[in-house]
Formats: sequence, C-alpha cells, structure tokens
Amino acid sequence: MAKIVECVPNFSEGRDPRLIKMITDEIEAVEGAVLKDVDPGADMNRVVVTFFGSPESVKEAAFRAIRKAAELIDMRRHHGTHPRMGATDVCPFVPVNEVTMEECVGIAKEVGKRVGEELGIPVYLYENAAGRPDRANLAMVRRGEYEGLPEKLRDPEWAPDFGPAAFNARAGATAVGAREFLIAYNIDLNSRNKDHATDIAFELREKGRTARSGNIRPFYYKGEILKHREGHHPCGSCGFAAETPEALFAHSMEAHGIDYRRLLLLHDLDPENLVGQSAKKPGIFPHCKAIGWEVPAYDRVQISINLTDYKVTPPHLVLEKARELAAERGIVITGSEIVGLVPLQAMLDAGRFYLRRMNRSTGIPQEDILNTAIQSMGLRDVAPFDLAEKVIGYEAPEPGALVSKVTREFVHEVSRDSPAPGGGSVAALAGALGAALGSMVANLSAGKPGFEEVEDAMVEAAEAAQGAKDRLLRGVDEDTRAFNAYIDAVRLPKGAPEEIRRRDKAMQEGL
Ligand SMILES: [Zn+2]
Repeated sequence: MAKIVECVPNFSEGRDPRLIKMITDEIEAVEGAVLKDVDPGADMNRVVVTFFGSPESVKEAAFRAIRKAAELIDMRRHHGTHPRMGATDVCPFVPVNEVTMEECVGIAKEVGKRVGEELGIPVYLYENAAGRPDRANLAMVRRGEYEGLPEKLRDPEWAPDFGPAAFNARAGATAVGAREFLIAYNIDLNSRNKDHATDIAFELREKGRTARSGNIRPFYYKGEILKHREGHHPCGSCGFAAETPEALFAHSMEAHGIDYRRLLLLHDLDPENLVGQSAKKPGIFPHCKAIGWEVPAYDRVQISINLTDYKVTPPHLVLEKARELAAERGIVITGSEIVGLVPLQAMLDAGRFYLRRMNRSTGIPQEDILNTAIQSMGLRDVAPFDLAEKVIGYEAPEPGALVSKVTREFVHEVSRDSPAPGGGSVAALAGALGAALGSMVANLSAGKPGFEEVEDAMVEAAEAAQGAKDRLLRGVDEDTRAFNAYIDAVRLPKGAPEEIRRRDKAMQEGL
C-alpha cells in the first residue's frame, strides 16, 4: 500500500463542459494525480471533482486547479441553487491509505497558504483543519455566501486564515479543509415499498425520527405521533414524560446517554421552544445519514446511506443492524451496494469482522479477506463489484509482473541470459515462501482443539506472516525494477562533467 490522499474540490461552474475540462486538465497534468470523477450539476451551476494520488501530487494538482478556476470563473456573474462563496468553493483533503488526518490537515494548510499568498484569494480553513471551533462547520463559514463577502471580510472576527482580508470580486473566497472519507452505501430490500426502507433508515441514522406510540410494531411509522405540550414532554426513547424541557434533557442524558438538545438541533428545532413540536427518537449510529428510496432499475427499494466517518461507524455494522431490524419486520436484506469508491481499510475491517464471527483465522491472504467481505455483505447483489475499480489502496499486480507469472515461467525467466531477475528477486521469492509456511503452521494450529490458549497468538502470528509475505512478494518485482534503473543509468553518456554528474546521480537513484 502506498500513501493515498483524496481531494474533492467543488468549482462554481456546472454548465460549460469546456471550462470544466480546462480545470480538470490541470489536475491530470500532474504526474501521480488520478482523476476519478467529474459530476456537474446545471441547476446548482457547480461541479464536484474527485481525484486522488500521493500527498505531493494531490497538493500540486489542487493548487493548479484552484488557480485555473480563478482564471476562468467570474463570480460576479455566477448564479446557481447551491450555496457558494468562490470560484473554487470548497477543497477538502481526505486520508485514504497510510495517511493520517493530521497529515491531511497539514496539506490543507500548505495549499491554503499558497492560494492565499500567490493567488490573493481569502482562504478559510474548515472541518478538521479549522483553527477555531466556529469555523469547523462549513455552513457557518459559508454563511452570507459570495454576496456577503465584502461585509464579512471587514469583520475582524472573520479575517481569513490565509490571503488578504480584502474582497476578491472575481474569485470570491475558498474554504480549504480536511475531513474523513465519505462512504456512500446502499442496502437492498426484497420490497418495492419505500416506507419499508424509510422505517429502517430512520432507526439507523444519527438524527433518528419523530417519536410515536401505540401501533409501532413491527412498523414504527404506523404509530401515533408524540408531541410536546405545556407540562408534558415525552421521552422518545422510553415511556417517560417530564414536566419541563430541562427535566427531559436531564432524563435523556441519564437514562439513555442522549444529548436531547443536540438531537433537536439536528432536526432544526429550537430547544427553547418545544411546545407544539413533535418529540424525537434518536437513531443508533453517529456519522450516519440515511433515507429510504425507490430504485426502479433494481426493481426494489434501498436504504440510501452516507457514512461520514467509517472508522467510527463502518458499513458492515450498519448492515448487520439493518438485517436485525428487517427481520423484525418480516423483510429480507438481499445485499448491499458501495456507490463510488471505498478505502481498502474499510473492506479489510469488514472481512475480518465476518471471519472472526465464523471463528476463522484472519491471518489469510488479503484477497480472501476481501472476498469474505464482498460475499458477507452481498456487494454483488445489484451491481458488479470489481476490487481494482472500487477499492482505493488495493493493488492488483501489474500485467506482466514477475509475481503474476506461473512458477515454471518465473524459473525459466531467471535462467535466461538477462541479468534480471537475479539474486534479489529470487531471495524475495524464497523469503515470501518462508513467510507463507510460517502463516500456514499458525493457521493450522489456530482453531484446533487443545490450542485454545494460544489461539490469539497464532492468529497474530499468521497475520504478521501474511504481511511479511506480501512485502516480500512486492520485492520480487521491486528488485528487478531497481536493477533495471541502475543499468539504464550506467548506459547514460559520460563525456562532459555535467553528463558524468547526471549519470552518477541516476546510478545512485537506481541503487
Ligand atoms: Zn426515556
């Protein structure tokens, strides 16, 4: 696995494909930056661009795209239905593989500084990159939108984090930040009734739902709505009703660990003004948004879910809860669907979860863990699921790589008159086989009667051996690539002093 950062900038142009292409060309011109998705909306007059790559390439590509957008988009003439404040409206950096949130915060600050200083655009840092709590929320940062910027920038409270505290009429202002990877995840039901999907979605999502009583089983939505009245404030989580809102807030926290004020705010309700409002029942998962919807193409309904922090609320746990709730309602979950991309870590976590539940060793090849996740979650129920296409961080061997040759071909290749593959590749393969034997012995012992006491140690050893095996397998090709780079360098011209220096440097790089 390599370091991978995702970047999802939103530009204020959703109608002119020519302009959009000029912006995304800037991204594709940076080596190592991979453009994954371009999603324009004409009504919003906005395009959401997704690309990823190494931290260095993503940093450079984001800056160049922001610079191009500032050249091409004139905010004085921009109209659209989505809130916005700049030609590049937002630019979040997202950790995907072997990158921490802290590193992405660092990238956001570096890019924000360059945009502010070199392009003269006011930059606000938001979400995890925010320097002040009141700037964490993007909606707060963007309040007043483009039209409100001249006044906002005069307010010392809203001095930008980078760039001039002066109105840039053409480019507006840009929010640069760092956030967690968003997984778009749908769960499939054997039903065409949208109410069935919505009823489960509202149990799962953080925001929960309007509280009801009476006929709430098996379908909660069929009950009577509970309302706040003067002197009567029902708890959405149990049968209790408090006399005052304060008593209800206290009960909610003590009995259910729920911050009821926050729950009300999630529903845009005023905690100080409850009488006449419906009571709320909290949902199960934080960082989880969900609704029910019909999908005619699949001839069924789905629970459509956005998971904004899969490290806290991973898809497989939401699916398992949905399976329980569906069973209570006589509904069957037939499978699920990842929309767009998913980080390798989320898929490995899922695979290991199901392996552990079956009491099987998790120290098995990565492909087997991933296939366990795909099968257990039914990820091929309504659409194809191709590992190389869907999973960021998953590395299939390149076509023609030594490691994808059959053993006989590899041995023949070593024996030919070319100097590579040579001793390094052969040593790496021998090491990989040694690690594989270690994993095998640990896996044979794990789960065997009489070995209960060392079960955990065996699984741990198997996982460690799998890691060593995978690193050594990569080494088979890495050694040959390094050798070839060295030989190419040796063949460089060595006449002038400048040529000699260049050749020495290239040789050292190969070595
Ligand atoms: Zn209660």
